[in-house]
Amino acid sequence: MNSQLMQGKKILIVGIANEHSIAYGCAKALKAQGAELCITYLNEKAKRFVEPLAQELEAELFLPLDVSKPGELELVMGSIKEAWGVLHGLIHSIAFCPLEDLHAPISQCSREGFLQAMDISCYSFIEMARQAKPLMNEGGSLINFSYLGSAMAVEDYNVMGVAKAALEASTRYLARDLGPQKVRVNCISPGTIPTRAASGIKDFDAMLEHNQEMSCDGQLPTIEEVGNAALYYLSDLSKGVTGTIHYVDHGVCISG
Ligand code: NAD
Repeated sequence: MNSQLMQGKKILIVGIANEHSIAYGCAKALKAQGAELCITYLNEKAKRFVEPLAQELEAELFLPLDVSKPGELELVMGSIKEAWGVLHGLIHSIAFCPLEDLHAPISQCSREGFLQAMDISCYSFIEMARQAKPLMNEGGSLINFSYLGSAMAVEDYNVMGVAKAALEASTRYLARDLGPQKVRVNCISPGTIPTRAASGIKDFDAMLEHNQEMSCDGQLPTIEEVGNAALYYLSDLSKGVTGTIHYVDHGVCISG
């Protein structure tokens, strides 16, 4: 097998908060195969946690990005255009919902919380696809992250399950939309992993325990395992694959 699957590939990674982030697992897998990285951080507060990781990963570009702030994504894409002139891949590894709405049963979710969850966790992917498209003139690959709570009513996942269902549907429609330009769009659905975002879910420890029991081998996924799935999707190994939802959950999704 080619030992440098990502040689010459320029990849934007959005969603590293710290060394536990799924996006960090992806970045490590891609870097190990020769990818050149643009890494973003949410804001000044987050920067000090992300910067050492970006340095370790020898990121060529390190830029702020809060997708809820108008103009910030344009600045990131503008910097990529100026520095690289091309983009081959993009990882969208972000989600957000106000805690009171995340913890509420779906019938109690506020309109404001619903719209914010949809905007940051789903619409931002559509917007990234739109802005990345002109830079993907050599073809490209886009991925995002969903969860089983999109397809099933998982306890305590609430409005985030609705946002993830929309994200998965967006993946399929974007795959058709961008296919003619040789841009592929896929979704990875990891099992539960203890990260900062996940810690906002009510009773997340119980969810972890339940997932471990439900998995086929008694294991939970790691960010390295998810990173390897991302490597498959971002590299030419998956050249014929678009519009898919790929589970990395040790078989929880098929266990009854
Ligand atoms: P994480 O906390 O490490 O990452 C979430 C990221 O979202 C952070 O980097 C945060 O800065 C970013 N973010 C939030 N609001 C943002 C905004 N307005 N603009 C830009 N970035 C913003 O947690 P994670 O678990 O690595 O989450 C990554 C993705 O994986 C999310 O989509 C999450 O829903 C998904 N996921 C996680 C699990 C799990 O169990 N951890 C399972 C399935 C799917």
